[in-house]
Amino acid sequence: MHNFVYEALPMRVRFGDHALEQLPEELEALGGTNAVVLTTPEQAELGEHVNSILGAAGRGVYPRAAMHVPLSTAHAARDHVAEVGADTVISVGGGSTTGLGKAIALHSDIPIIAVPTTYAGSEMTPIWGVTDQSVKRTGRDPRVLPRAVIYDPTLTVGLPVKVSVTSGLNAVAHAVEGLYAPDASPIISLMAAEGITKMLSALPAITTEPTSSDGRSDALYAAWLCGAVLGATTMGLHHKLCHILGGTFDLPHADTHAIVLPYVMAFNLRATPTARAVLQRATGSATPATSVRNLGLQLGIPASLAEIGMPDDGLSEVIRQAVDAPYSNPRTVTETDLTDLLTAAYTGSDPDEEY
Ligand code: NAD
Repeated sequence: MHNFVYEALPMRVRFGDHALEQLPEELEALGGTNAVVLTTPEQAELGEHVNSILGAAGRGVYPRAAMHVPLSTAHAARDHVAEVGADTVISVGGGSTTGLGKAIALHSDIPIIAVPTTYAGSEMTPIWGVTDQSVKRTGRDPRVLPRAVIYDPTLTVGLPVKVSVTSGLNAVAHAVEGLYAPDASPIISLMAAEGITKMLSALPAITTEPTSSDGRSDALYAAWLCGAVLGATTMGLHHKLCHILGGTFDLPHADTHAIVLPYVMAFNLRATPTARAVLQRATGSATPATSVRNLGLQLGIPASLAEIGMPDDGLSEVIRQAVDAPYSNPRTVTETDLTDLLTAAYTGSDPDEEY
């Protein structure tokens, strides 16, 4: 066993079907007396339900969370929270809504209770992101880490199957990169292996039966573990490429992760035998990259970057940005490697082909 540093993040988690009902207890445990509920416009109705659970402590719903947290939205939400005098924000939704809560907490120290309804994992990380004039700035700050998280699988039953699959593979990507991160540790590897295994078995169950209680519960548990891995380690090539692809071409976040992941796995696992062994066990396959890709295709993810709208002349721009940007990775990545990998992801060829 190698030397390592592991820093546990201060976080209280409540998990279980209908755990949302215990929200008032969580608010009280934090010393909060009145809270604003954040949602996207699409989840405003759920927000109203959450506000009603809060009873007299509810200060209403702010249903304006949007993808990639536009700076103007963050400012308006911060003003709203100050106006109603809330001492806590409850973010109910996916990574976009958690992200809005973080943007508020970043400059106000207001605590967040996160109620995740996708598998993106943002609730487990001290990473914030705000977009201004098409440029997304990100950073790490302990103030944005939610103080409590309520995982209630019943809230994920309505997550469309296609979104569940791409969001689940987004979570798997966090755990895969945590396995070979420079700051990996044995406890993080345990979480990553369990998260990957549980998510890969939960997604087919959800696809067959979207309301499956066991499938939804396993997937949310796996999302928690994968998010914790993301929060504790430094991500590599996969996250760098997806960040560039999403930012440059406005591609959908989870779809991009789901498509690119097998190609980065195939590339990096050749240099990381320990991570490869974990993924071989998790997938039950000698070629985990192909296995993850085939699973995604069977469950209906888009087959290629071309299919989700990446322009065919966009490759050189992604390569330029990836070459310019520093990031940690277990294997040195040359410009030729990037060209081969991205061309394969663009066309949707077999990831385990030698390139
Ligand atoms: P999202 O939050 O944008 O949600 C997508 C859509 O699904 C929204 O309309 C939302 O309201 C809806 N939705 C969410 N849960 C639902 C449910 N259970 N039923 C029906 N509809 C539901 O998508 P996401 O993939 O969760 O988050 C993506 C964003 O999160 C990106 O901006 C990404 O950068 C960010 N992110 C940040 C971190 C971090 O650590 N900071 C980690 C992961 C993702």
